[in-house]
Amino acid sequence: MCPVETSLPPMPSGQAQGDKPLCLLAEGLAGLPGQTQPAAEPAVLVGQGRILALGRQALDSGARRQALPGLWLAPAPLDAHVHLHLGGTLESNLEASLAAGLAAVRDLGHRPQLPIPRTRPGQAPPWVIASGPGLGSEGPGRSCLAQGLAGPEQFSQAAWQRALDQCGVVKVFASGLLDFDNPGQVLHSPALTAEELAAAVRAAEESGLSVAAHASGAQAVRLCLEAGVRSIEHGFFLERPLLREMAARRVSWLPTCAAVRAHAQDPEGRHTPEERQRLASILKGQMQALRLAEGLGVDLVLGSDAGSYGLEHGVALFEEMACWLEAGVRPQTVFAAATSRAARLLGLAGQVGSLEKGAVAWLLGVPGDPQADPLLLAQPRWRSF
Ligand SMILES: [Zn+2]
Repeated sequence: MCPVETSLPPMPSGQAQGDKPLCLLAEGLAGLPGQTQPAAEPAVLVGQGRILALGRQALDSGARRQALPGLWLAPAPLDAHVHLHLGGTLESNLEASLAAGLAAVRDLGHRPQLPIPRTRPGQAPPWVIASGPGLGSEGPGRSCLAQGLAGPEQFSQAAWQRALDQCGVVKVFASGLLDFDNPGQVLHSPALTAEELAAAVRAAEESGLSVAAHASGAQAVRLCLEAGVRSIEHGFFLERPLLREMAARRVSWLPTCAAVRAHAQDPEGRHTPEERQRLASILKGQMQALRLAEGLGVDLVLGSDAGSYGLEHGVALFEEMACWLEAGVRPQTVFAAATSRAARLLGLAGQVGSLEKGAVAWLLGVPGDPQADPLLLAQPRWRSF
């Protein structure tokens, strides 16, 4: 229930799930929709696993009260870019995500022969929005996390198939990996044609899904934007004109800084010292672009790439947060990127990632305002799930 030592009683799960509403009295609330001021009456009424009311309405409900002295209540955060089949078993990675307090994850690709990750029975946290295997090139620039395809017709069919398989998003691999030998270069950028990307996006949209694009380098990212993807994953080596265009098109960006940091730190000694140095400079460039993107109004969303080299599920989200804060991104942007913005990208707005009536009551109690210090979410003193 509550893995952290605390003198506060954890919320009995029956209270969150059961019939009897409970009024939680906190020091402050973070994650109210459109919040600009501190909540005047920081109370949350929960029952049947949902938020039933907030503020005065919660206080006037007559429900039993539980005080959380000194604690701010916040919605559990989301990780919008993970690989549940990497870095452990599917089950252990879901457990690790739950232990870290995540409400939902977006799973973006795995080997075609593996089962598509799903939310566990009983709608238990974390909810999983999965792409199934990505859609990628069958030639140069192919990814082991994607089905190899060629030509618009195959991309269109594969996108339809993901909808039939009840995926929540379509993932395309529009470029290859970073070229560790040539700083600033990306292998196979672009890896897909404009026609293939357009076919995937059209079929996805017709079946009600959005498209997440693995893309680095200006050429691949430009093709993705023109095709109408919903998010750019990684997006290394982006400069001002493309970031501006992302802002104008309201395309989300998940810069996955922690993934590069893990490679630069190289815990398993996979890289040469020269490669590590180049990786550190790629990270520096990515952090500068991230800060620039914030200023240009790009919709930044937190996604860690958990499961990739050196990134454990669950806690990886907080490593990504730490990178953003070090880059100079404003704390309230980091908080929103891990909560309301991530929920919107996953199609879960109003369900998770915000404190509002009707949302799931997966709440964390932290000793301060996480909008000012989002890393407080990494060490909750109390949690409802
Ligand atoms: Zn990834």
